Amino acid sequence: MFQPPTLDECQQALEFTSLSDHEKTCKCYQSQYFDQLTEQLWGNWLNQHKESGQTFRNFMDKHQDDDLYCKQEERRVVYIYLLDNVLMDGQVDTTAQEIQFKDRIGNHPCLKKVIEFLRAFYWGVTVKAMQPSEKQLSDYRNQFKFTNRITSFGKKQFLTSDIINFLKQVKPKDCYCMLALTSFDLYPKEDWNYVFGIANMTHQVGVISHSRFDPNFMNKFYPILSEKEKEELILKRSCKLAAHEIGHLFKFKHCIYYDCLMNGYNSLEEVDGTFIDICPIEIRKLKESIGFDEQERFGKMREFFKGNEECFGKELEFVEKILSKP
Ligand SMILES: [Zn+2]
Ligand SMILES: [Zn+2]
Repeated sequence: MFQPPTLDECQQALEFTSLSDHEKTCKCYQSQYFDQLTEQLWGNWLNQHKESGQTFRNFMDKHQDDDLYCKQEERRVVYIYLLDNVLMDGQVDTTAQEIQFKDRIGNHPCLKKVIEFLRAFYWGVTVKAMQPSEKQLSDYRNQFKFTNRITSFGKKQFLTSDIINFLKQVKPKDCYCMLALTSFDLYPKEDWNYVFGIANMTHQVGVISHSRFDPNFMNKFYPILSEKEKEELILKRSCKLAAHEIGHLFKFKHCIYYDCLMNGYNSLEEVDGTFIDICPIEIRKLKESIGFDEQERFGKMREFFKGNEECFGKELEFVEKILSKP
């Protein structure tokens, strides 16, 4: 069973004592708005997987020498790679190598908003969406093989290792990390049914599928949600899972301290219940990697939540509290 952390353990994980007096005041203020993790439901990730957590010190000791930092000017881009055209055999929807945004891009109902969210979340680096040109597509199709199978309910599913191998080879030079998005379902191993996504920390590439974010993925008739409710759910899930997987590409392990976007999850219900931002511990790690101003980042998050207030009302309230620091 998962043992909830004590306040002392949370402060140690943050390495509170090494902060300047000003930073201590800020972190104390911030921390009161993040819930410490408490006992978990039986089926939740933390009761099913033994996680040791990753303190700020663990993160620094392990990664400070290994080309972790995207402080190098030439590697400051987080790429969102639209993979569907590469996986599709026929019809190609390719307009340009770098996407001109419309609301609906490729097969994702709200990708433009997801990218806007990621730009606020990973404030300080460039977040770019890309898909291959027609010429690249025909080259890739000759060069790479994408193992796939048809599931018992008739949907095509792709093996993640082939995709990771592909991404490793096509990532641009200025890429810090790259997350591919696809509407195809994914599986990581022959004996697994499916996976939402996978991240390769070593090569800093990952992939997520948004197919199952649709509540009607398995059953067309249940649950009964309006188109608008459905789209909001897909938007939230897409924002959360993309930011979570990119967090792994920044070498964050699962968080065991706070209700935090880097918590592990067993199901979409667990994702739905998780908070949409990272806790003060991960913020400190991210700041160390990117080097941003925390207030500025929260300001960008507020802008995004305010622009999408119908869907992110609670999140807007949270960020306004953080920003109202006396
Ligand atoms: Zn994870
Ligand atoms: Zn955390």
